[in-house]
Amino acid sequence: MNSLSKRHDVIVVGGGQAGLACGWHVKQRGLDFTILDEQDKPGGNWRHYYDSLTLFSPASYSSLPGMPFPGAPSAYPRRDEVVKYLEQYSKHFELPVQPNIRIVRVYRDSGGFRLLSENGTEFSSRAIVVATGAFSRPFIPNIAGLHNFEGTKIHSSSYRNVKPFLGQRVVVVGAANSALQIAYELAQVAKVTLATRESVRFFPQRILGVDFHSWLKWTGLERTRWLNDQSTPVLDDGTYRNALKSGLFAHTSMFERVTSSGVVWPGGAEDQIDGIIFATGFRPNLKPFEPLDILDSQQGVKQHQGVSTSNPGIFFVGLPKQRNFASATLRGVGPDSEQIMDSLHKYLNI
Ligand SMILES: Cc1cc2nc3c(=O)[nH]c(=O)nc-3n(C[C@H](O)[C@H](O)[C@H](O)COP(=O)(O)OP(=O)(O)OC[C@H]3O[C@@H](n4cnc5c(N)ncnc54)[C@H](O)[C@@H]3O)c2cc1C
Repeated sequence: MNSLSKRHDVIVVGGGQAGLACGWHVKQRGLDFTILDEQDKPGGNWRHYYDSLTLFSPASYSSLPGMPFPGAPSAYPRRDEVVKYLEQYSKHFELPVQPNIRIVRVYRDSGGFRLLSENGTEFSSRAIVVATGAFSRPFIPNIAGLHNFEGTKIHSSSYRNVKPFLGQRVVVVGAANSALQIAYELAQVAKVTLATRESVRFFPQRILGVDFHSWLKWTGLERTRWLNDQSTPVLDDGTYRNALKSGLFAHTSMFERVTSSGVVWPGGAEDQIDGIIFATGFRPNLKPFEPLDILDSQQGVKQHQGVSTSNPGIFFVGLPKQRNFASATLRGVGPDSEQIMDSLHKYLNI
């Protein structure tokens, strides 16, 4: 028989940066809550990203509410520093993260919601915050012949470091930060081609010595919706642009199809290659919540500024462009969590 926990005011599903930032705000408001996460430690998916990952935002723009990111404010933190920061954050604020709980189904009951976990425990709350991450379901586009390819084909989420690719011929697919970071480091030890559907748009990481994020703040651009409509630029201190210019790795339009041992480019030329790495993005993982009518026909989440527009009592943190372009980043989840607090209170009638 399933065991049922007591009914909380709020259950936050996901204990990554979004769930932790939200937990901080919920705790400030004195609500009764818990955070459920399928992993064995808080901090979300950062520990699964590739070894050399360096943030595109400096420490001063990578903080969650209540605790500045440690170190020099202008330094760009590495993956492991983020993992450590999030673990410390959770501990310092004594956020009630319950690890190793994977929620598989959520449904309504008369007092709110029931959340069923994989191990059979049922949780119950009046409201739920979905903070399950926008980068947990790797997306690989449909490409003719891909299933026939006998070389290595991986999504960037499975890429760790250059070791498996020493001396190989590799195509990296994608035009955003991860694709460029991976192509650049692989090109030191392998023959690399970057394949993109659109042109790569570079944006200087620092302008007149000042970080891009500070400019957005000073100019007021970050408060507009203009940025939401732009494709993601590659934030660059010159390293990637110079690497492309110098031919460290090649850059071509996206290939048209894949054979058992290579790719066929527009125009028909074929290259034999050993591997393809798809840095082609992610989709949010919302499966357990789908029965609650949260998605529209285009698979977009029916929400406005983090509040469900189809199902009262459901809130979101960490969706891409949920409120603005920073919504799915370290610095965005604090303000986005704060944004939902008034609606949450109103819903709970507290
Ligand atoms: C390669 C890469 C580079 C990035 N670089 C930056 C950067 O430089 N700066 C920046 O600010 N952001 C960056 N991001 C974006 C973002 O900050 C990270 O992806 C971050 O991990 C998102 O945090 P999150 O809490 O929203 O999601 P996650 O870190 O994915 O955490 C969600 C948590 O929910 C858990 N979960 C999911 N489903 C369930 C379920 N059903 N039941 C229980 N638990 C569940 C997951 O296991 C996970 O622990 C990057 C993302 C990627 C992929």
